[in-house]
Amino acid sequence: MTPNAVLVRYAEVFLKGGRRGFFIRRLKEGLARQVSRAGPYRVREVHGFLIVADERSRGAEFPDLGSCEGLFEAVERTFGVVGYTPCRMVPREVSALEREVARIADEDVAGAASFKVESSRSDKEYPLDSMELNRRLGAVIAGRSGVPVRLRDPAVTVHCHILARHAALSLENRKGPGGLPVGSSGRVLLLLSGGIDSPVAGWLAMRRGCEVDAVHFEAAPYTTPEARRKAEDLARILARHERSLRLRVVPFGAIQATLRDAAPGALLVVLYRRMMLRIATRLAREGQAQALVTGDNLGQVASQTLENLCVIEAAAGLPVLRPLLTYDKMETVALARRIGTYEVSIRPHEDCCSLFVPAHPETAADPARVEAVEGRLDVETMVARAVAAADTLAIEP
Ligand code: ATP
Ligand code: MG
Repeated sequence: MTPNAVLVRYAEVFLKGGRRGFFIRRLKEGLARQVSRAGPYRVREVHGFLIVADERSRGAEFPDLGSCEGLFEAVERTFGVVGYTPCRMVPREVSALEREVARIADEDVAGAASFKVESSRSDKEYPLDSMELNRRLGAVIAGRSGVPVRLRDPAVTVHCHILARHAALSLENRKGPGGLPVGSSGRVLLLLSGGIDSPVAGWLAMRRGCEVDAVHFEAAPYTTPEARRKAEDLARILARHERSLRLRVVPFGAIQATLRDAAPGALLVVLYRRMMLRIATRLAREGQAQALVTGDNLGQVASQTLENLCVIEAAAGLPVLRPLLTYDKMETVALARRIGTYEVSIRPHEDCCSLFVPAHPETAADPARVEAVEGRLDVETMVARAVAAADTLAIEP
């Protein structure tokens, strides 16, 4: 079967009651953005589905799609898509359907061990019900190919879905990424290191419908530019899901040196992270983000014990979302591979959080000691300077 359209299914957006129209608009926008990057395609809304077709499609005319790999990848990048089906859109009259399934019998069923037809209808006014359709179309295919019908576990299933004016014939259902359309849940600012976790956390926030901007703290001159390049490359991968992504890069080395001179080494990780959250809060407000996102994971390293997370979070002026909080490292790595960030994340770089830090940092920082150190510093000026010095990069996918 040569597809002439892709039928795109969504589900969760249905659950959102009065906001349904808003969600579908966002999904359609997101899908149109993705597929237009893949080629000359357009998106229409039909009876509870979105349909992607050649941009020259008009009314009942659907030109065949050529090679679809890029198009499928684009659909799979669109959050809110539950599943999709490469299909043939044909006029829905029974005679037209019988003609089309005869072709499918020759091309896709002949030689198989068994088949069945599975029909469904968005338009219940259609003169035949699903059972009748199954029988009519099944008879054509069996007669032509000689392949027996088998209702349980057939080798080939021919789907026929009746829409308002057309029917969609298809052979397979593919899984989409799920989630909610990007832009349907507000904007967040992701703290993006060069590591494995934070890009995955950003991807999960996007899949929940957030538009994501990112901030990277750069420990120059103590680290090489490679850390920053990694952050940029990771941001570019995340940006595929969005219109574009704004990456802020904050010079952080001077702040780290000041903290090193003012505090016992064991407290440094917590102090660094508190400064990051203060600066990120400021940048988020500037950029209209409503929350911060980190790749924190409970109990992995010294900065991520529950005690330290509490002391660190107290410095944030916005909610801190931690999508990976309960993930096992193996789950995070598997997801990083799937979304394509893993290969970038494992490139060697120096991690700014380990700069000047002794082998055994404090795992339960005393908030009073942390505040005493910060009380001796001009934290407000340090934050204001860092915010003023932040670079802004518009990252295009
Ligand atoms: P990651 O793999 O994301 O670096 P991690 O498990 O190594 O996470 P940490 O290095 O302790 O954990 O960092 C925890 C979180 O703090 C990161 O996931 C990220 O959100 C944020 N973070 C750490 N370093 C930076 C940085 N240089 N710039 C921006 N955010 C950072
Ligand atoms: Mg890290």
